[in-house]
Amino acid sequence: AKSHLHSVASQVRVVLRVRPFLPCETQSKEKGVVPCVSVLDSENGTGEEEVTVHLKDQWTSRKECYKLDAFFNQENSVDEIFKSEVSAVIPGIFRGFNATIFAYGATGSGKTYTMQGTEEEPGLIPLAMSSILSMCRGSECSVEISYYEVYMDRCYDLLEPKTKEILPLDDKEGRVQLKGLSWVPVHSMDEFNEVFSTGIQRRKVAHTGLNDVSSRSHGVLTIAVSNGAVRGKLNLIDLAGNEDNRRTGNEGIRLMESAKINQSLLALSNVIYALNNNEPRVPYRASKLTRVLQDCLGGTSRALMIACINPSSYQEAVHTVSLAARSRQV
Ligand code: ADP
Ligand code: MG
Repeated sequence: AKSHLHSVASQVRVVLRVRPFLPCETQSKEKGVVPCVSVLDSENGTGEEEVTVHLKDQWTSRKECYKLDAFFNQENSVDEIFKSEVSAVIPGIFRGFNATIFAYGATGSGKTYTMQGTEEEPGLIPLAMSSILSMCRGSECSVEISYYEVYMDRCYDLLEPKTKEILPLDDKEGRVQLKGLSWVPVHSMDEFNEVFSTGIQRRKVAHTGLNDVSSRSHGVLTIAVSNGAVRGKLNLIDLAGNEDNRRTGNEGIRLMESAKINQSLLALSNVIYALNNNEPRVPYRASKLTRVLQDCLGGTSRALMIACINPSSYQEAVHTVSLAARSRQV
């Protein structure tokens, strides 16, 4: 049977989340602006803990079928994802293990909603943070966070008043360290919200001073728990939107950004594939993102990839799910 996130080492779980239709999407269907609507459903595999996901183009009746570890539909809340996919890794963080949760998908597919959420529906980041803080209460543990983004294959600290590039350096064991990255102690949700929201604001105006590149960079929030002699880390990553350049018509800087994004997402997919297939060599060095995450992917670390889907775009869904399913494939 397929391993669960907390039961078998070095496997990366790949799950799918389809967000609800937005009001404008159901309107534009009448206006004919959105050419297709995908309908997704799932069935439980026999014995195996996996699901088969069907992508259907409502207009051309084209169809594709993929196997993944779990499927969350339009009615499933982020709380359900937290309970069934994330909460089980948290005790490991207190014992010094590392874990990484990725939100992957096209721009507008619900990555930021899933990771950050809103005041009404907090995402996986605040849910994980509050769970960790409550487990710390009355113990000797201390909690720190860091927050950086990877943009055009460079890392920038978001907890510094001025955007600062952080260079990854190899230590003696050949592991990558982000030297000089800020770590801020956190004791309460109020403190966390203040630090994190300042970082989010910085991410919106970094680099150009004007352009919001936050959906074109990978945002990496890390919660580190120190407990006696051990230190465990949980990375919660809002990946840059993956794009199909044959369809977006990107040019100039946008095309360059997009090429870097796709290159790093492909590198990530290759790393996950190698881990899931127990390949002897895992190509961490193929991109900055996989290089800086090396100690939190594979080995005793746990990882989860949440592929996010916009229900009104069949093409995007196929693009996202095929890469997700390809990295999972065993
Ligand atoms: P991304 O970060 O992938 O670009 P967003 O998270 O910004 O996408 O989501 C795009 C839009 O869809 C936003 O308006 C967001 O509020 C909405 N949305 C995404 N997921 C959900 C959800 N599960 N429930 C309700 N609205 C959602
Ligand atoms: Mg986003």
